[in-house]
Amino acid sequence: MTSFNDLGLCQPLLNALTAGKYTQPTPIQTQAIPPVLAGRDLLGIAQTGTGKTAAFALPILQRLADTRHRPAPKTCRALILSPTRELAAQIADKFRAYGREMGLSVATVFGGVGMNPQIQTLGRGVDILVATPGRLIDHMDRRTLSLAAVETVVLDEADQMLDLGFVHAIRKISAALPKRRQSLFFSATMPQSIGQLAAGFLHDPVRVEVTPAATTVERIEQSVIFVEADRKRALLAEIMADPAMERTLVFTRTKHGADRVARHLGNSKVPAAAIHGNKSQSQRERALADFKAGRIRVLVATDIAARGIDVTGVSHVVNFELPNVPESYVHRIGRTARAGRDGKAISFCAQDERGLLRDIERTTRQRIAATDRRSDAALAAASAVANQNDRQENRSSHDQRSDGPHRQGQRPAGNRHGGHRTDGQRADGHRSDGHRTEGHRTEGAHKPGNGGRPFHKKKPRGQGDNRPGGNRQGGRPQGQARAG
Ligand code: AMP
Repeated sequence: MTSFNDLGLCQPLLNALTAGKYTQPTPIQTQAIPPVLAGRDLLGIAQTGTGKTAAFALPILQRLADTRHRPAPKTCRALILSPTRELAAQIADKFRAYGREMGLSVATVFGGVGMNPQIQTLGRGVDILVATPGRLIDHMDRRTLSLAAVETVVLDEADQMLDLGFVHAIRKISAALPKRRQSLFFSATMPQSIGQLAAGFLHDPVRVEVTPAATTVERIEQSVIFVEADRKRALLAEIMADPAMERTLVFTRTKHGADRVARHLGNSKVPAAAIHGNKSQSQRERALADFKAGRIRVLVATDIAARGIDVTGVSHVVNFELPNVPESYVHRIGRTARAGRDGKAISFCAQDERGLLRDIERTTRQRIAATDRRSDAALAAASAVANQNDRQENRSSHDQRSDGPHRQGQRPAGNRHGGHRTDGQRADGHRSDGHRTEGHRTEGAHKPGNGGRPFHKKKPRGQGDNRPGGNRQGGRPQGQARAG
């Protein structure tokens, strides 16, 4: 079996890997590190959780150290583009950890924080810059950063970049990069739109594909609970009584929903925090730090905010609402079972979400077994209390809900187009000051009083056609191209 020693990495990096208790390279690291060290371009089809950050960070650090020179003011030598702030911060942390004996400078540039400290840092020149596209362009426009000296560029999570409407930003950034450069491109999925973006970005790339979408999914024990929308919060508080749920990430569709769920858990004596685009950077960081340190057991997040959250030891992922796009399901549950660990994913599915569940099962080629957690009568009683609180809360927060860029209402189950955006539309509500405000979806289908039926116990379906290394590209039916 290949070891890190076999990959041609220098001693300072090997020391850092030992300190980080990395004993063995992951498949993407084994395949990507040697060609990237040799200066080749790379097309990596891999999702988060596969060790892809180290797969590009280690060889980039080594190449920068081998050709060490002082970066010119307002330039960077390596540029890593990330779709979200959280992921950018985590990538930068990884560079710092792996490069701790190498003395290279690492900086981040993303929205939600002041420009001036970033301008000062960039003014000195940095070796490694990790940036989100919007804020990077702000700096380019103000001429506080030039990309003319970039030696290596990484486009991470390209599919998310397109989903978030960053395609024009990426094109603008690409045009400002030197022609002679090393380019690395990572995406979890490779639909045609991403393939075209990659083709324009890369020169004669080595293609490395790992198939965690299926393998990760298979390592995770997944279940679905059929429950009406207005009983979900009571159910969540109920299942959190299980001490095995020691570090649980809960996904909601909307920011408002995330806040409500976190509040309900708090009222039920389960310490929780919400993380989403309306929270300040410091609130997000505090919530994440509390979650990592175990001070809170539950982090409630929207998809965009959760992108890139890398917390080891997430015991459970709960899909409080099913995502509109099956790929998001894979991304969400991939937050557990990271780096070879096992994990559990529980999805709450209301009647009107069954179409979404079918889409997910089709994409992952797995049947998700249904479980029943508790008696309906007990749940109904708990729900009555939650709904009472909710009605009071709705009255007071009605105005608040109408803020932010509105997305279309929840699409009818089975129509995947509804959740997608049209070309160029910035779903993250990005403003030119670099602040991100996530889209706000209406929650019509999840309002209290919608249905109120007992939750149904579904017959467990047989383990269908599990497919190791399944074809992620096939997840999206023909003709349903991703926006962008
Ligand atoms: P990534 O896919 O880059 O987000 O990495 C997922 C997680 O795996 C991170 O917490 C990494 O620190 C961890 N990791 C990456 N490579 C290895 C390795 N070779 N051995 C153990 N853990 C790793």
